[in-house]
Amino acid sequence: MQTNHRFFNMGNNSNVEKVSCLIIGSGPAGYTAAIYAARANMHPVLYQGIQPGGQLTITTEVENYPGYPDGIQGPEMMVHFEKQAARMGADIRYGIATKVDFGVRPFRVEIDEEKWMEADSVIISTGASAKWLGLESEQRLNGYGVSACAVCDGFFFRGKEAAIVGAGDTAAEEALYLSKICSTVHMIVRRDSMRASMIMQDRVKNTTNIKIYWNSETEEVLGDKKVSGVRIKNTQTGESSEIPVEAFFVAIGHQPNSGIFKGWIDMDDAGYIQTVPGTSKTNIEGVFAAGDVQDKNYRQAVTAAGSGCMAALDAERYLTAKGLH
Ligand code: NDP
Repeated sequence: MQTNHRFFNMGNNSNVEKVSCLIIGSGPAGYTAAIYAARANMHPVLYQGIQPGGQLTITTEVENYPGYPDGIQGPEMMVHFEKQAARMGADIRYGIATKVDFGVRPFRVEIDEEKWMEADSVIISTGASAKWLGLESEQRLNGYGVSACAVCDGFFFRGKEAAIVGAGDTAAEEALYLSKICSTVHMIVRRDSMRASMIMQDRVKNTTNIKIYWNSETEEVLGDKKVSGVRIKNTQTGESSEIPVEAFFVAIGHQPNSGIFKGWIDMDDAGYIQTVPGTSKTNIEGVFAAGDVQDKNYRQAVTAAGSGCMAALDAERYLTAKGLH
């Protein structure tokens, strides 16, 4: 626990705490930023957000993060990240950033709608959330054959049949990825056309072990303890049918968790924070972004961790240049 944060009263009975580096969010990006910031003596305070540990806490085994030769459970890996950040001296706290004011220096960030933090630098690592269909069975079997990441979990279904729902570039890319691992990929498309770029559509259509089901809605993911199939309904004919599969991948898009930064931080149309290429810098000097909240392309734990490192180094250079560190 750090002891050198300043607490003071703003005159309206609200306690404000001043820190050098505030990290918002606790996935691989946030924890890695915390490790680097703590080691650089920036005394970072990290607020974990709604889902401490982020998206990895809803996955099962992670086999593609370097350094774990035997693989590791996603939630356990995030415990390791947190412990390492804490051991370096990062102050890790429960709490959700509920509002920001980036128009003042130091920056102001409201926590849990009850207290304000002041920070000379802010690292945004709030991640993104996979969109889900909203079926009870999808939620119940999440991690037991239901997944929102083919690159993470496809390998576990080598030689098996898998289904994937979605028809954008992500779904097309993941269907192609799965086609190299699984025996058959059943692609469930809700309309009579795909949103994915033409080149990706062509690739999908020309891959012999990808079977496309047009005008099809997912009614239920089947299975008791693990996925055993999926029931779909053709919206043109009204007919339902079952496809036996062992995996069900949802690829209907992601939602970056950037809502509270709107109006301050530049974002693309989908809400992903825009950073200066090759850096973690946002349009506001002193505010940095790392991980999935600014990356719709790679979205891997290892790339998020790498960008968290970048954000801490950028923040440290910024604080030094401003004479704040
Ligand atoms: P998109 O929003 O582009 O596509 C989402 C897909 O999911 C659409 O086909 C949509 O159907 C479908 N969908 C949404 N909700 C449901 C639902 N409830 N049931 C069934 N289907 C549903 O998301 P992506 O993640 O694919 O892509 C996001 C962005 O990232 C895009 O701009 C994409 O081009 C880009 N991207 C680029 C890549 C690359 O260049 N290599 C790789 C991956 C992504 P409908 O079309 O009917 O709305």
